[in-house]
Amino acid sequence: MTLVVLSVGSNLGDRMARLQAVVDGLGDAVRALSPVYETDAWGGVEQGPFLNAVVIADDDNADGHEWLRRAQALEIANDRVREQKWGPRTLDVDLVSCYDADAEVFSDDERLTLPHPLAHLRAFVMVPWLAVDPDAELTVAGERQRVDRLLAELEPADRDGVRLTGLVLGLSA
Ligand code: ADP
Ligand code: MG
Repeated sequence: MTLVVLSVGSNLGDRMARLQAVVDGLGDAVRALSPVYETDAWGGVEQGPFLNAVVIADDDNADGHEWLRRAQALEIANDRVREQKWGPRTLDVDLVSCYDADAEVFSDDERLTLPHPLAHLRAFVMVPWLAVDPDAELTVAGERQRVDRLLAELEPADRDGVRLTGLVLGLSA
């Protein structure tokens, strides 16, 4: 397994520092960073807006579960609290999709679903992903589809709710 597309989000505390902590924590594995977007929270819980970005990483020694382990270790290191489903969180790191060489990886066990089952419904995942990979593709309902087409199927308000910021994540030295 080599490549993973990670969606990172934060809406509590120093949001930008949390996102940067993911990049720093992944270190040498980081291949590409999207711009940073601000997105109003959804899921019905009243809370502040998120900063969202996509990080692409690769590592020959990591499989899907290893990426999940790293993602959760980064959440814990950033004081993640899970009080309320879809409530505010200091840091959320989700695996969007994963590739072994060029083959998409599928997982459907109790800990890991790949590709992420909600990615094709989330403008805050697809907009940053397309910024780093305009030809990105995702398997939805067993069919490989272009992410730009999936994004186009969302309500305009969903797309417009993902606002580009001037904030920039940096690769660690
Ligand atoms: P959410 O991201 O849906 O807001 P959590 O971050 O609390 O919720 O994740 C809940 C659980 O989802 C995690 O314990 C993890 O095992 C599981 N999970 C399943 N598939 C994935 C994935 N692709 N990326 C991240 N977590 C996943
Ligand atoms: Mg998550």
